[in-house]
Amino acid sequence: MADYSSKDTKCPGCGGKLIFDPEQQLLCCDFCGNTYSPEKIELLLQIPEIDTGDAGESEEDKCELVCDSCGAVLITDKNTSATTCTFCGSPAIITRRLSKQFRPDYIIPFEVSRQEAETKFVEFARSKKYVPKDYFSKSNIESVQGIYVPFWIMSSRCKVSTRGEGLKKRAVYKDKYSLMSDFDVKYDNVPFDGSLEISDGLMEAIEPFDISRRIPFASSYLQGFYAQKFNLTTDNLADRILARMKHYGRETASMSFSGYESVHFGACAVRPYELEHTYALYPVWFLNYKYGNRHYMCAVNGQTGKTDGYLPVDEVKRKARLIRHRIVDALLILMCVAIFGALLAALYWLGATFITSSAGLVLILALVCLASPIGMMVFIGYHHKSNLGAKIEPIAEFLTRPVSKLAARRHQSYLNLCNETNMEVGPRPPAEEYYDSRAKIEFENSELYSNPEL
Ligand SMILES: [Zn+2]
Ligand SMILES: [Zn+2]
Repeated sequence: MADYSSKDTKCPGCGGKLIFDPEQQLLCCDFCGNTYSPEKIELLLQIPEIDTGDAGESEEDKCELVCDSCGAVLITDKNTSATTCTFCGSPAIITRRLSKQFRPDYIIPFEVSRQEAETKFVEFARSKKYVPKDYFSKSNIESVQGIYVPFWIMSSRCKVSTRGEGLKKRAVYKDKYSLMSDFDVKYDNVPFDGSLEISDGLMEAIEPFDISRRIPFASSYLQGFYAQKFNLTTDNLADRILARMKHYGRETASMSFSGYESVHFGACAVRPYELEHTYALYPVWFLNYKYGNRHYMCAVNGQTGKTDGYLPVDEVKRKARLIRHRIVDALLILMCVAIFGALLAALYWLGATFITSSAGLVLILALVCLASPIGMMVFIGYHHKSNLGAKIEPIAEFLTRPVSKLAARRHQSYLNLCNETNMEVGPRPPAEEYYDSRAKIEFENSELYSNPEL
């Protein structure tokens, strides 16, 4: 472990002296009062600032397009201009010379064409509910923009230590175990986007990229495309790295235990070390749509075509859909009533035919019971403890079960239609996607029986 008491560990925020507070188990800044976990400070020391120096003469072939409305900055070559801002749609774009250096190590060139991307966006929006009709208009779909997104690519060994709980199924109860897992794992080429304007969740949802197809960066790739500069602070990046590594740590630990019905890991400490990093541009097609006063962004992975994003909901479309749902409900009720009526009519006919026999009387009695649900309930309630009541109740339940099941399903689908938002993107790729396949993970696991859970 690093020595945190050393005078060299300075506050990343203000450069003040950091002091370890044993009570909080955090490093506190003497000067600005910010607090940092030791693992975060250690990580921060390993992350360099990116795109911060002054632009050099070798970068004169590039220029910056600055959005006057939202402040987003795009880099492109001198011959490419933009008519609208990708992030806010504003047409007020100012062209200026490169202000800060822009030196990515690698680039993955676009493999998905503009036309393919347009098709992907349309297919994606079709798979969602209540997307406004205007979204599919030619002018909107054709406004897609190809942007090289800056990514910080991390490869690192991580010491992971996590604690959790596992449940094993027994005949009537479950056995609870305390689980401990310590291991050393190597993750390879985990990407973190360095753009403030682009949703982290969206970028994770269109991962993975095939990094083996990367090539050294050259300005000529920017022709006709745009790139963003790294504008995320190392502080923000460190938080994201730790959060993702902890998530992956828990995931990796969960997979190392077998024979459990469920396994859940909570507390997790992660220490990345032997950290290596590169700075690369990854190709992404964007379609930004303004609806009401919000922006909705969708993205297509420019290498694999994987698509995800946020879409608006047209409330008029939703209302129409809900009304259609209610009409189908009404038709289903009518159908049930018709079947029930037909059953009553059949019983009446049978009863009338055999009225003189005892079978006829039973049929008439059944008719009266069925025709009056209240009478049936009273009958069941009254005879609940009697043998007859106990026998009839399950039969009545059995007969009504299909109807109640259908009613519950219809109600659930109605609620789903009401709550649909189109604002959820898919999950990030699982931990295995980034395991270093050459490095075997050595687990130090322990399972301790704690108590039965009834
Ligand atoms: Zn400070
Ligand atoms: Zn803008």
